[in-house]
Amino acid sequence: MKAARLHAARDVRVEEVPTPRPGPGEVLVRVRVVSICPSDLRLYQDGHASGVVPDHPMIQGHEFSGDIAALGEGVEGPPIGTRVAVEPSWHCGNCDMCRRGYHNLCRNIVFPSFPQRDGALAEYITCPAHSVCPLPDSVSYVEGALTEPLGVGIHAVRLAQLSAQDHVAFLGAGAIGMCTLQAAKARGVRRMAVVEPLEGRRLEFDVVFECSGSNEAVEQAMQLARPAGRVIVVGIPHPDRVSFDSTIPRRRELTVIFSRRSRDTLSEAVELIASGRVDVKSLPTRHFTLEQVAAAMEATAARPADMLRAVVTP
Ligand SMILES: [Zn+2]
Ligand SMILES: [Zn+2]
Repeated sequence: MKAARLHAARDVRVEEVPTPRPGPGEVLVRVRVVSICPSDLRLYQDGHASGVVPDHPMIQGHEFSGDIAALGEGVEGPPIGTRVAVEPSWHCGNCDMCRRGYHNLCRNIVFPSFPQRDGALAEYITCPAHSVCPLPDSVSYVEGALTEPLGVGIHAVRLAQLSAQDHVAFLGAGAIGMCTLQAAKARGVRRMAVVEPLEGRRLEFDVVFECSGSNEAVEQAMQLARPAGRVIVVGIPHPDRVSFDSTIPRRRELTVIFSRRSRDTLSEAVELIASGRVDVKSLPTRHFTLEQVAAAMEATAARPADMLRAVVTP
């Protein structure tokens, strides 16, 4: 099969590699759409992901959809040809965190595109059967790929324990910010503000979602929260180390929650899109071929105003 493999920072090559075979409990997915996440840029630009260095030319891409192409041993469905989306956070089901229901915090978590597990920028990928969800005909492959950022938003909104009366702010109007806002709206929240960029706002919010991934925005989110308010950090701060004035969360007795990826959100994401309660189609996309993966990565890094996701069709 054809795959886009990262040999070093900013060095992506489309190469012929063996098509993977689904093992027991796995399915083979023919990839149709991969959307590029800003979190993919760290490996692409730096050649490592938070210090973890690939031990082979990595296939990136974790937001994807496609068709079931083969079933591994012991897997009874979905039938070959079924259009599916995938929750790309693969838990073991046996460790202490899995047994407590924290699947996204699994001690043995496998995340395709994070070293050393190859991702989806290829014609095929194998996935655990439990990680796929069939897509209704009304949900496109692009929307199927966008169930991943929507799942991140759904997970953050669950962690925030929002009530319909809450006055909520979102820092960052990228795909994660928009998906988190739509997930909150689908929960009945009506009083919402999006801050992008942050200059000069002095409103006080019950709940603030940091979705920008900007390092300074963590403190800015705390400044926007009212006493006894909640701050949910969804964005991935870059660089990793964050500093803030501790008097802000201390004097206000803020609850600060860090959200990790998503947890068992895929079927809700598909349902929200299929029912029209969430509209991910409105996120502006630009389309690229597998040969243009480097251009898709560079476009993501450039953060153009008219594109929230670069979409690759292998
Ligand atoms: Zn993502
Ligand atoms: Zn586990």
